[in-house]
Amino acid sequence: MEFMRDFPDDKTCLEWLWNTRYAIGENEAYCPKDGQKTVFKKYETSQQRQSWTCTKCGHHIHPTAGTIFHKSSTSLHLWFYAMYLMSSTRCGISAKQLERELGVTYKTAWRMFHLIRTELMAQDDTQLGGTAPVEIDEMYVGGSRKANRGRRPAHKKIPVLGVVERGGRITAHVVGDISALTLYPWIRKYVRQGSQVMTDQAGTYVNLPYAGFEHESIRHDDGIYVDGDVHTQTIDGFWSLVKNGIKGVYHQVGAHHLQGYLNEYVWRYNHRDDDAGVFLQLILRAAKA
Ligand SMILES: [Zn+2]
Repeated sequence: MEFMRDFPDDKTCLEWLWNTRYAIGENEAYCPKDGQKTVFKKYETSQQRQSWTCTKCGHHIHPTAGTIFHKSSTSLHLWFYAMYLMSSTRCGISAKQLERELGVTYKTAWRMFHLIRTELMAQDDTQLGGTAPVEIDEMYVGGSRKANRGRRPAHKKIPVLGVVERGGRITAHVVGDISALTLYPWIRKYVRQGSQVMTDQAGTYVNLPYAGFEHESIRHDDGIYVDGDVHTQTIDGFWSLVKNGIKGVYHQVGAHHLQGYLNEYVWRYNHRDDDAGVFLQLILRAAKA
């Protein structure tokens, strides 16, 4: 995919939205006012953005209506380019880089990031596990996990719970704390009953069998990280990606923004094998409005 070739300007992006969201064949679309398929004509307005007009009743359709781009003063082309940049790197890019690449203010870059992460990359409630084993682990952003274990986390250290299905999808969420009382409802929400669950030896997880899961744990404190198929290497690998990506910026990242970051990493992970590509999945998601 060559971004500048496929989406050279604002017009191309708008036409892509029109074709994806409304167009039926050459120049027809469903007119909500007439309740039927009619011919629409592209109509150039004095404003920057064009609309398509029903040739029967004059009803206008704006291809951005209902999307995160609609009320934005940032051009559609920059929105698409931002989503392309976010999709095309393994670790993501910073707001500073986005500011530079797009020539927008830092504040605008942040706002775009935030909307893309919270609206387009929001995680769904698909349950993981079943036939494939699941790895569950928690981590802290803002401090090492070891230093926190068994104690109350220090100020600003934000706990995150991750669940990954081996060979499948991942979820990661900011949680209030890592007590069993807090974590078990999350685990029940995201892991299918009866699944085989791999964790480290944290005490929180010892009651998993009573919650309806098959539980295996690995004793990290003994320096053992893999015992046959008992390990948490998949989720550990994901945590290192996240930690490397947010290194140096986490001090200004509140829980709300951290969830956005997690959504972005989860999105890339879950779309890693999509033939259509991460970028296309993202603009299709945006088109769904
Ligand atoms: Zn009409």
